[in-house]
Amino acid sequence: MNFATKILHGSTCIDPFTGASSVPIYQASTFHQADIDQPGAFDYARSGNPTRQALEEAIASLEGGARGFAFSSGMAAISSVFMLFSAGDHVVVAEDVYGGTFRFLTKVLSRMGISVTFVDATETEAVRAAITPATKGVYLETPSNPTLKVTDIAAVSRIAKEHGLLVIVDNTFLTPYYQRPLELGADVVIHSATKFIGGHSDVVAGLAVTREAGLGEQLYFIQNGMGAILGVQDCWLVMRGLKTLKARLDVSTKTAAGLAEWLSSHPQVSRVYYTGLADHPSHLIQTQQATGHGAVLSFDVGSRERAKALFDRVKLPIVAVSLGAVETILSYPATMSHAAMPAEERAARGITDGLIRLSAGLEDFDDLVADLKQALDHLPSEAPAYKEKEVFSRA
Ligand SMILES: *Cc1c(COP(=O)(O)O)cnc(C)c1O
Repeated sequence: MNFATKILHGSTCIDPFTGASSVPIYQASTFHQADIDQPGAFDYARSGNPTRQALEEAIASLEGGARGFAFSSGMAAISSVFMLFSAGDHVVVAEDVYGGTFRFLTKVLSRMGISVTFVDATETEAVRAAITPATKGVYLETPSNPTLKVTDIAAVSRIAKEHGLLVIVDNTFLTPYYQRPLELGADVVIHSATKFIGGHSDVVAGLAVTREAGLGEQLYFIQNGMGAILGVQDCWLVMRGLKTLKARLDVSTKTAAGLAEWLSSHPQVSRVYYTGLADHPSHLIQTQQATGHGAVLSFDVGSRERAKALFDRVKLPIVAVSLGAVETILSYPATMSHAAMPAEERAARGITDGLIRLSAGLEDFDDLVADLKQALDHLPSEAPAYKEKEVFSRA
């Protein structure tokens, strides 16, 4: 079955008991045991619930893994997956990970005796160089936020396998529609389903999928033992979002690609980051390992004043911390996702004070262009600070 069909005719579709066109919300915390010697398929809803199970089977099937798990947020999925490691273990982590992941690793997990080393994983050899005898895993997020640097998942997985390491990939930005890390050698794939999979800015949720059943059994033990499960109402919302994932991404990605082209030629924009643009340093590898470039792009208008002027003038996008929704979302990394990072560190990564991230929604393309144009055409007229300078570099 192709992806578009699988998404609709997988486990989210028909209730086997009644034929209902969507899996019912089984609002039950416990299940009657007809025979105390023969427990049924479900006993207590933290351990398993039919609504959650439908979502978990759906994401496992779409990612091509053995077992799927639904958690109460993306961070709950990420922190639960890290519980696969033990005190004394070391994990090599891509330096551009989501801010919440960075905070969890450096402020919480470090207290548990699990250490991490951050590396520029786009340089595959940097991953190898960071491996120590204590290393047990590699954690990637690709493409990264907000400059969309891409890690070669297959190349890193090959190095990891030489050392018997677990490879974990946060696949939030591309979803299984465009990228399936398990097929490239990863062992675990994670999502903030709050973003594209939920897709409507109305639910916070996380998902994880393991390639092997054995590792799935270990993660199931952790999910049940720690208890950060997704509630059934939210499972249902995520399944509803999932049904239109492809249809939404087809439109949003086309819009993002069109906006990236249009912004690139706009005189008020100094730089555009979108892996679909041939001049993006990760264009080639992205084209090889994923089937699409996704709906997120970033662009630089040169200074904080000009960024603020743009935010003040745009009317259609919501200005918010998030991405991957039906409405176009603009965010300002310098004070939102990357506020905790020192200005110099941000600048070194291309996260300048003029950088704006855009997650394309489903609005009419011409309306979005018109709105961005009226905002860009009225920016304070100072020259963009980064026009001639190559801010983004893989070095
Ligand atoms: C939002 C996000 C997360 C965290 O997910 P929550 O659902 O907010 O807990 C993790 N990784 C990436 C890439 C994200 O964008």
